[in-house]
Amino acid sequence: MARATLDPPKIVPVPPTKRTTKDFIFGKVIGEGSFSTVYLTKDIHTSKEYAIKVCDKRHIIREKKTEYVKRERDVLNTITSAGVPFFVKLYCTFQDTDSLYFVLSYAKNGELLQYIKQVGAFDIESTRFYAGEILLALEHLHRLHIIHRDLKPENILLDEKMHILITDFGSAKIVVNHEQQQKVEGDSEVTTVVQRRNSFVGTAQYVSPELLTDKVAHYSSDLWALGCIIYQMISGLPPFRARNEYIIFQKILKLDYEFPEDFDADAQDLVQKLLVVNNSERLGAQDKENYHSIRSHPMFAGLDFATLSETTPPVISPFLPTSDVGLNYKVPDHLEPGLSSQLNRLLLGLEPESSPKSKRSPALELLTNAQQRATKLETQAAESKYHSIVGGRLILKQGLVNKRKGLFSRKRMLLLTEGPHIFYVDPVAMTLKGEIPWSEELSTEPKNFKIFFVITPNRTYYLEDPDGFALDWCKAIDDVKSYWSSTKA
Ligand code: ATP
Repeated sequence: MARATLDPPKIVPVPPTKRTTKDFIFGKVIGEGSFSTVYLTKDIHTSKEYAIKVCDKRHIIREKKTEYVKRERDVLNTITSAGVPFFVKLYCTFQDTDSLYFVLSYAKNGELLQYIKQVGAFDIESTRFYAGEILLALEHLHRLHIIHRDLKPENILLDEKMHILITDFGSAKIVVNHEQQQKVEGDSEVTTVVQRRNSFVGTAQYVSPELLTDKVAHYSSDLWALGCIIYQMISGLPPFRARNEYIIFQKILKLDYEFPEDFDADAQDLVQKLLVVNNSERLGAQDKENYHSIRSHPMFAGLDFATLSETTPPVISPFLPTSDVGLNYKVPDHLEPGLSSQLNRLLLGLEPESSPKSKRSPALELLTNAQQRATKLETQAAESKYHSIVGGRLILKQGLVNKRKGLFSRKRMLLLTEGPHIFYVDPVAMTLKGEIPWSEELSTEPKNFKIFFVITPNRTYYLEDPDGFALDWCKAIDDVKSYWSSTKA
């Protein structure tokens, strides 16, 4: 890339302004960092919205984070002055006795991570688009002689049009010292390497092998992180996962990861070419002008990089494995034409008279019949191994399901109880793994006889009933929801 031949740019600070907190209306808190709070604010002169990061000076000094904060400001200044897209911009900074204030562009749509969690796994179109934007952002960053060193889905924010705004430059490195450039043996290319003083910068799951072994960051360390992020967008989870950082690092060094079934073949090929232990052999590591070898990978076929920042991003949609949506399925002729949110329910429904929708579910019977309820609770307390796990609540429906997170799935005992609650339990370890948060907004959607979604504002839970009673699950949850709403009204 051009970075090997260009001099690093001078750091041009954003002109100082005499802003104070009085120039902004401080609204809600939109995020908390380890020594900062981020507020949504409005400029009283222009009515423009900004995110203001308020850093507690005493906390920064106590935690010895002065360098980190200065580095973040310098990098943001460099990027803002360069006027390149895909980054949070720093409009101004000011301070008072207690705090430092960073006035930043407001990323209205939050973190990329939250979208991955919400849909489980991105479809290939969304993955191609967002991977393309991240790649262009890295081209800009590296041309400015900056290595991010902590690229991950939490640090990729989204603006009001759903374009990316990369943030969090506290761990970034501005490559200024040319004496630190080293000639790689047997290679005419001059590769910039940066020696770090600290033992570890970044986040365990996305850290590249060279940062672990040589304590050295290359531009291609960010390309490693890109490989991890593409893997995560496609599958729902990062490639290197373990209970603790030590094991994660061992896996990274051994390149110990797997592709789940249904992982897109082109995306797999690209990830394999980015997750290469030798940093100089990663795809793009030897590119001089842009990352053309990555741009021309089949994964990006059809993507127009020149207009990406002006293109309307695809609506982020969940990936549905072809085996799950039922390839042999034929649309019945007897249904009304037109599309509704209930389409799947209608399509899956049997003939109206035999549809379980018209009957009361056993779960509702239990809830509304006092005698049945008392008898069932007594039996449950005496016989069910799940009784204590659900805190002694009456279990209205239970069954083993495969709970999907992206392309990964785990067997769980799903328990719909009074409260209402939907708990899921590891049936082997007999431990409570979590709960689907219940609210007025919770809804269900059967995808076929086995697969159903429980949709909550922050996440869609992708569940598979191997016995094919997805409709019964939806019916039970819907009935309990209606009953719960009516008792509250
Ligand atoms: P740490 O300082 O511990 O590394 P951090 O970098 O996430 O954490 P901040 O930069 O203070 O800390 O950000 C806190 C949270 O605020 C972030 O997780 C992010 O969700 C949100 N946030 C930060 N900047 C913006 C922004 N420009 N627009 C919208 N939300 C933001």
